Amino acid sequence: MGSFTLATVPVATEDPLYRLMREYREDSHEKKIDLGIGAYRDEDGKPWVLPVVKRAEDLLRENPQSNHEYLPIRGLDTFLSAAQRLMLGIESKAICDNRVCSFQTVSGTGAVHLGATFISRFHSGNVQPTVFISDPTWPNHHQIFTQTGFVVEKYPYYSATSKGLNVEDMLQCLRTAPRGSTVILQGCAHNPTGIDPSQEEWKRITEVVREREHFPFFDCAYQGFASGDLEQDAWACRYFIEQGFECCIAQSFAKNLGLYGERVGAFHFICAPGSDASELAERIGSQLAIMQRAEISNPPAYGAQIASAVLNDNELFSQWQSELKIMSGRLTGIRQEIKSQLEVRGTPGNWGFLSTQVGMFSYTGLSRRQILELKEKWHIYMTENGRISVAGLNPGNLQYFIDAVDDVLRALP
Ligand code: PMP
Repeated sequence: MGSFTLATVPVATEDPLYRLMREYREDSHEKKIDLGIGAYRDEDGKPWVLPVVKRAEDLLRENPQSNHEYLPIRGLDTFLSAAQRLMLGIESKAICDNRVCSFQTVSGTGAVHLGATFISRFHSGNVQPTVFISDPTWPNHHQIFTQTGFVVEKYPYYSATSKGLNVEDMLQCLRTAPRGSTVILQGCAHNPTGIDPSQEEWKRITEVVREREHFPFFDCAYQGFASGDLEQDAWACRYFIEQGFECCIAQSFAKNLGLYGERVGAFHFICAPGSDASELAERIGSQLAIMQRAEISNPPAYGAQIASAVLNDNELFSQWQSELKIMSGRLTGIRQEIKSQLEVRGTPGNWGFLSTQVGMFSYTGLSRRQILELKEKWHIYMTENGRISVAGLNPGNLQYFIDAVDDVLRALP
């Protein structure tokens, strides 16, 4: 008998998002719409390879020095230093003080995972570490932190009544959380709600995090998608760092450079200012190197080379900034369009939230029955929590979507 049997290996449930994508692929209806996956689509519903990425790829191809060698364990140096500057700012004191330790990772997911592994191994105290994640959040946070040995708790985030941020309950929960908990904060364009704290609210969050000595862990998968401006979208992370917190950041280039499948990301650990800060950053780096070596040995090179080319060249960088504005501008336009069309129709509900939410997603507040009906009757696919990826809508399918939502909301109030 083998070591592994049907009795010892239970069936795990399929990842709900990937199941949804499979169901969409298998649906042969001509008007089907995919609002599940968080990936940008152009006006024709097609993936958009950013023209700046094509230019960077041409440069790589034409460069006689290009090769397919392994990268160092930490990743590509030119990519990492530019990624740091992009997130922390070119005048970052933390970078000047040498107290930032950065690793190239397998996109944002790999960065969250590397951070979780490090914290679970090295957090002080011999109790199991506790992490607080927003309710709701990107579902993979649950899996990553459970698998790396955390007690996973939720803090309130979304208010179903106001369809906005439930900041009072969020702060109250963080106030009563065990001292020194890890708190996951999405830097901008919150997934799935599209609701970000205002600067005033971020300041209040900082106060509670400081009071309870929590460890802020920023997950920044959408820099540039909230406002269209890379600097503005990094405000919250930078504010925490300026306030002298130690923290870490998971950074992804999947969305803002459209490099989804190339898996380009970075993990940054920022030590608090102090006389031993740069020595500590170096030590943390030495431990991360062991973990990275055991997990992936060294990160994938191609996507990082593309990102590095864009980030380190002034002309390509400004082209990228304009292309980011095209993407975020299209999403804002679509939100506005859905809102006004539903209002004109008199579709039951208050649709103001559509234009205040930001980024790739909109959290519709539709019920499970309504979501199921949209899938079964209208072949429109969205996640079970009522999140839609706004990028899946375009002038070619918007009317069909509006007809469907109007029909379902009247039939199943
Ligand atoms: N964090 C959040 C909040 C996300 O929404 C995503 C992408 N869905 C990620 C991290 C990681 O994405 P990736 O691994 O593709 O960079």
